[in-house]
Amino acid sequence: MNLNAAEIAKAVEADDVKDAEEMHVMTCIECGACSFSCPAYRPITQFCRRAKNSIRARIAAEKAAAAKAAAAK
Ligand code: SF4
Repeated sequence: MNLNAAEIAKAVEADDVKDAEEMHVMTCIECGACSFSCPAYRPITQFCRRAKNSIRARIAAEKAAAAKAAAAK
């Protein structure tokens, strides 16, 4: 599996975090190499980090909702 950091950044810029997730953004280790080597100086690592934070928040919300539903039974 290869990370296409530029495509992930485009998806995040378009607020399409689901698309970034499908492109395996969660495997990004935030090393910064893509931002460092980008000839257009795009903050690609920050886009990856933003997508990962959004995905983590969604998963936490889903877990909280599931726990709340289980507690209500
Ligand atoms: S920060 Fe590193 S691991 Fe993440 S997409 Fe860029 S080059 Fe790949």
